[in-house]
Amino acid sequence: MADQPGPRPAAADAEPTIRSRLRQLEKAVETMQVGVTITDLDGRIVYVNPAEAAMHGYRREELTGQPASIFAPPELRRQPIGRPRLREVRSWRRESLNQRKDGSRFPVEILSDVVTDRSGEPLGLVSICQDITDRRQAESALRESEERYALAVRGANDGIWDWNLETGEIYFSPRWKAMLGHREEEIDATPEEWWRKIHPEDLARTRESLDAHLAGDSDHFQAEYRIAHADGSFRWMLSRGLAERDAHGEARRIAGSQTDITDRQVLDPLTGLPNRALFLDRLASALGRARRKIGAVTGVLFLDLDRFKVVNDSLGHLVGDQLLKRVAATLEGCLRPGDTVARLGGDEFTILLEEIHGPEEALAVAERVHARLEEPYRLGDQEMYTTASIGIALSSDGQERPENLLRDADTAMYRAKSLGRGRHQLFDQDMRERAVAQLQIETDLRRALERRELVVYYQPILSLASDRIIGFEALTRWHHPERGLIMPLEFIAVAEETGLILQIGDWVLREACRQQRSWQQEFPASAELTMSVNLSPKQFNHPDLVKQVRQVLDETGLAPRLLVLEITESAFIESPEAAIQMIGELRGMGIQVCVDDFGTGYSSLSYLHRFPIDALKIDRSFVSKIPHQGRQTELVQNIIKMAGDLDIEVVAEGVETDAQRDRLRQLDCRYVQGFLFHRPLDSGRVRDLLRRQE
Ligand code: C2E
Ligand code: CA
Ligand code: CA
Repeated sequence: MADQPGPRPAAADAEPTIRSRLRQLEKAVETMQVGVTITDLDGRIVYVNPAEAAMHGYRREELTGQPASIFAPPELRRQPIGRPRLREVRSWRRESLNQRKDGSRFPVEILSDVVTDRSGEPLGLVSICQDITDRRQAESALRESEERYALAVRGANDGIWDWNLETGEIYFSPRWKAMLGHREEEIDATPEEWWRKIHPEDLARTRESLDAHLAGDSDHFQAEYRIAHADGSFRWMLSRGLAERDAHGEARRIAGSQTDITDRQVLDPLTGLPNRALFLDRLASALGRARRKIGAVTGVLFLDLDRFKVVNDSLGHLVGDQLLKRVAATLEGCLRPGDTVARLGGDEFTILLEEIHGPEEALAVAERVHARLEEPYRLGDQEMYTTASIGIALSSDGQERPENLLRDADTAMYRAKSLGRGRHQLFDQDMRERAVAQLQIETDLRRALERRELVVYYQPILSLASDRIIGFEALTRWHHPERGLIMPLEFIAVAEETGLILQIGDWVLREACRQQRSWQQEFPASAELTMSVNLSPKQFNHPDLVKQVRQVLDETGLAPRLLVLEITESAFIESPEAAIQMIGELRGMGIQVCVDDFGTGYSSLSYLHRFPIDALKIDRSFVSKIPHQGRQTELVQNIIKMAGDLDIEVVAEGVETDAQRDRLRQLDCRYVQGFLFHRPLDSGRVRDLLRRQE
């Protein structure tokens, strides 16, 4: 290989010398402890020494003729270096990662030399390869101590931890221990010490987040958890950490900080999720990032559990709490890393989706959430499943204010809820307009009471036996100064939602009782007519109801037995025990209680015997199908029969045709109400009617 000085010797006598020299050389190479590979210009191996083959886990024969890139992991393989470049470089040195036959990897240092012919033309490459695992470890130990130092100076208020995953030993800084009220020697250098102190409810979440990072699924570890303090209390901590990985991507060590966030109170204590303040904070930063990125959309999902109150009231708060925790965990499981789930309070949750590109992604998350929540699970000895209504709002240009985005998602959630359980809705401009209109109704409605714009109409209730009026139902109308007559369906729900129903209801009750009393005095033949007044769930569940009713009766002088309070099943389904007691109290005063819209609620016939009511009103939706649909008529028949057995009076409402009336008479229904007889009438028209009945 070396240049031969002087004139070229005759081949015949030169041969043996070269051969023997080459053999010597080869022997030396064969016994070297470093790997040696010779490749041709196409990058194919023409020679490897035993050390090289052994280092890479091959037999030598397997390697000859293979591309030299066989030693590199697939992602690091390159084309062989071309001849022009080889003419320039001659030799070079680099550190890299090589791969053994079994796929395992190790760090190497490689020295390559270009072999040329006499004229300097490249013929191939000789590479010397050395395993430098040991050297790397020494270097990383040095880096470790530097990093630990960096962590330590980062904040005197933060505790530091540093966990060697290979030895299992964990270093807790004195500050880390002091945050928990412990002295230096009181805490062992094991992770178990940590896990033992974390609140049991936060442990799984914390470890999951840690495992996810160690497995390479997240770019850092972060968890907020409660941890036991020596004084017996729990402190909220935020811990962040970063793993250090070896050449194979395996985490070898993870170090991080711990900050006391007890005072920040950004977390919901029950679920450990961020609260509203933290959510809005994260939403604001997400919007900020989205502004700088074209096409990036920020999404907010607003979730409200359906019928959570029923669970809470019927199964107790402990079960309710468990359910909320389960939902929190489920929601966290539906997200991509980086997204945020928060609990705003009660059964309301929000999800922040960062950097999505359009509604499809948000809708997909909503669908995933529905699907997961609906998987049945056990709570205590109950098999349960949950549904939620979800509203979705998306940022358009990142200019929106976080509170507004949250409000829009909330509005959309209400819309979803009104469509039925387990649905989701994307916010749109119509909803904004509807919300504004609702707001308008709300402000106007407040004034309506002061300005005496509400009026009560009275719809007669008749006896089918005598065809005579036996009472009235009070139905409220609103004479709006600009919009004219507004029907209750347009404003009762708003009144209920805003709580205005309490004042309105109180006024209607007083007005109806007063009116009935004044008719009694004017028309002695009408002295026994009843007055039915609708009570909304909020009124019915108000602690002052009994007091208030008593006061109205005292003031107006109406006999309690002539007052009928109509409540819908929704008023007591949420808390049946309390409702039974309330009904008992009202009836104890001598008032009658009637279940309105019977048959449209949740539980229908089966619960009737539990509720000590006087009467029920068969909902118009059943009556309207008489006599055409056999099944509905049969249902009406069953209701009437069962009510008769329980001594409950029945009123059929919404009677519009003679055929319906005749059939109801056949079925032994005693009372009816409907357009066939009378529409709701203003007090003047009722007065004319009563005068004729004298
Ligand atoms: P509701 O208690 O079921 O009242 C009966 C409704 O059916 C009334 O509607 C009445 O006008 C209507 N109706 C009666 N007979 C017929 C009929 O033959 N055919 C048809 N198609 N409809 C008939 P309105 O007055 O619009 O009231 C609607 C609902 O608003 C009431 O339903 C009640 O739930 C609520 N509401 C009305 N006034 C009050 C109130 O003062 N307080 C509360 N809490 N709710 C009220
Ligand atoms: Ca009613
Ligand atoms: Ca009704």
